[in-house]
Amino acid sequence: MKRRLEQIEESFNRYLGQLDAADRDEPALAEAKTAHLKEKITKLREETARLQVVEEERLKSPDQQVSLTDPDARAMATSGRGTGNVGYNVQTAVDSQHHLIVAHEVTNVGHDRGQLSNMAKQAREATGIKELKVVADRGYFKGEEILACHKEGITTYLPKPLTSPSQAKGFFPRDAFRYLPERNEYSCPAGQRLTWRYETIDKGMKLHAYWSSACATCAMKEKCTTDKQRRIKRWEHEDVLEAAQSRLDWNPEMMRLRRKTVEHPFGTLKAWMGATHFTTKRLRNVSTEMSLHVLAYNLKRVIKILGVNELMRVTRA
Ligand code: SF4
Repeated sequence: MKRRLEQIEESFNRYLGQLDAADRDEPALAEAKTAHLKEKITKLREETARLQVVEEERLKSPDQQVSLTDPDARAMATSGRGTGNVGYNVQTAVDSQHHLIVAHEVTNVGHDRGQLSNMAKQAREATGIKELKVVADRGYFKGEEILACHKEGITTYLPKPLTSPSQAKGFFPRDAFRYLPERNEYSCPAGQRLTWRYETIDKGMKLHAYWSSACATCAMKEKCTTDKQRRIKRWEHEDVLEAAQSRLDWNPEMMRLRRKTVEHPFGTLKAWMGATHFTTKRLRNVSTEMSLHVLAYNLKRVIKILGVNELMRVTRA
């Protein structure tokens, strides 16, 4: 919106400049040019008024977004900087043995962070597998979601996001501090002990704070923090996240398995759909459209695995 209003402002100033210049032309020519420019300026004013109404609507919306084409579509997170994509977020859970889509859901939430336990539980219900192992990419990493799976007895494998605020500033990453559970302390890159100091609640999560008294005289301090001391916060359920990370460290092939499992149906469906978008609008309709795609995909997969005759036989049984 800001960019569009800036463009309009630029065009407006350009036309005003051209109007001034037109005054210096022959009267007949000046009159024709002036009429044409005034028409353009009127259109710009109308467009500005229209955008202001849209902006008011956008600000009133709970998530500060408004989609004029499909009211339910929302901005999706994309990996490219400055790129945008407005649409829907299709979640799928795919079984690694047969590559069948065992659960799917269409949402208009622009990221995957809150989807792990929801999709994992749906997958377990659909497959009936009691000891389910779930692999997801780092876009799904969220402490509360990993904890929810843990409480349900679902084993998760997913890498941590690469973003570390300290590392981005050129300081030691959080991973450089090792937790020593038997002492409830951290050990830092300088070999100092960060002892427990206090507990606090942040965004509903209970966190424990640790730091060392040796920071002031530490030779490595400039690589560590600009504060009086480097403080490490630990979530009360951090051990669940550490266990998930360690499972992945011991089973790095899990991420390859994820890629070749979940990308197979997505690739197939996209190839069938062609270079196009969903043909329906609104969340409810897009969900139905996706369900039809999933049904077609799963049917073709089952025919491939069992053959038509066997599929007909088990369907009748
Ligand atoms: S500044 Fe403090 S936490 Fe950082 S390396 Fe030195 S002693 Fe350890």
